[in-house]
Amino acid sequence: MPRTKQLKGQSEISRPRRILLAGGAGFVGSHLAERLVGAGHEVICVDSLQTGRLSNLAPLMREPRFSFVRHDIGLPLSVDGPLDEIWNLACAASPPQYQRDPLHTMRTCLQGSWNLLELAREKRARILQASTSEVYGDPEVALQSEGYRGSVNTWGPRACYDEGKRAAETLFYEYARLGVEVRVARIFNTYGPRMSPEDGRVVSNFVRQALAGEALTLYGEGEQTRSFCYVDDLVEGLVRLMASAVEGPVNLGNPGEFTVRALAEMVRDLTGSASSLVHRPLPPDDPRQRRPDIARAQSELGWTPRIDLRQGLQRTIDHFREEMAQAERTLRAG
Ligand code: NAD
Repeated sequence: MPRTKQLKGQSEISRPRRILLAGGAGFVGSHLAERLVGAGHEVICVDSLQTGRLSNLAPLMREPRFSFVRHDIGLPLSVDGPLDEIWNLACAASPPQYQRDPLHTMRTCLQGSWNLLELAREKRARILQASTSEVYGDPEVALQSEGYRGSVNTWGPRACYDEGKRAAETLFYEYARLGVEVRVARIFNTYGPRMSPEDGRVVSNFVRQALAGEALTLYGEGEQTRSFCYVDDLVEGLVRLMASAVEGPVNLGNPGEFTVRALAEMVRDLTGSASSLVHRPLPPDDPRQRRPDIARAQSELGWTPRIDLRQGLQRTIDHFREEMAQAERTLRAG
C-alpha cells in the first residue's frame, strides 16, 4: 500500500467534522467519543450495546453535538447527511466476550466492516479500523513490527477474532484500492477506566479481584508477557493516525513488556490487597509474548506513549474503586 506524505504530529484538524463512531459505548470508544466531541466535532455513536454500556456515555448524553443510535453494524445502516469520518471500533475485544458467539464476532468483523466501508465510499468519508495485535497471533519474533505476517491458528477458539480482524484488514485495503481513504491501527493491549469489571481481560480481572479481596487468577505460570497501553495514550495515537496520511497499518501500544505475574504483583501492591495468586490452565493459543515495535508510529505520527504502567494502573484502580463503591451504595439503597 503506497504511503504518502504524513502530517507529522498533527493530532487535530481545526474544521469541525461530522463523525460516525461505531463501538462508541465501549471502553476505548467512549474515551474517543469524549475526545472528539471535546474537539468540537459532531459525533453519531452507533453501538449494539453487546459489551458497551450507556453509563460510559453519561457525560456525553447532554451534549448537543453527540447522538446515540443502537444498531448492530452487521446489519445494513444508512445515515442522513454528510460524513467526514467513520471510526470502526465495534467488536467485543475480550476473549470470553468474543468467544461467547463466535459467528457473531466474525459477522461483526466482516459484514460490519463491509457495511461501514460501503458507507465510507458513499459519503467519501475517511475510515479508520481498530485492528489488533492479535493479527500477529502467537508471534515467533520478540518485537512485532507491521511487516511481520503473524502466526495465527485459523481454527482455534481465538480464530473468530484474530482471523476476523485479519480479513477485515484485507477488506479495508481492497476498498483503499477502490479509492476509499483508510487508516488501520493495530492496537496492543490497552487498559484504563471504564473497562468493564466483568469482561475477563487481565487488567480488569486483577483489579476487580484485588479490590474484592479475591485470589488473582494467573493462567499457566504467569510468565507470558504483555505490554499495556493506557487508554489516553491510545486515543492520542488514534487521533493522530486518523489525521495523518499514513495508509499502511500502524502499531499502537506501549513497548514496556511485563510478565502477567509482574502485573498481578503490581496490582496487589497498588491496591494494598492481601489477595493470593491462583493458577489455572493456560487457554489454547494464548500468545506467549507481545511487544509492539512502534517505530512507525513514532516517526510518522510523532506519537509515543507517555503514561507508565504504575501511573495508569493507579488511575484505573481509583476508577474501579469508585465504581464498586457506587454499586454497593445502589445495592444498599435498593
Ligand atoms: P469493548 O468491548 O469495550 O467495546 C466494543 C464496543 O463495540 C462495545 O460498545 C460493543 O457493544 C460494540 N459492538 C460490538 N459488536 C458490535 C456490533 N456488531 N455492532 C455494533 N456495536 C458492536 O472493547 P474495546 O476494548 O473498547 O475495543 C474497541 C475496539 O478496539 C475493538 O474493535 C477491539 O477489537 C479493538 N482493540 C482493543 C484492544 C484493547 O486492548 N482494548 C486491543 C486491540 C484491539
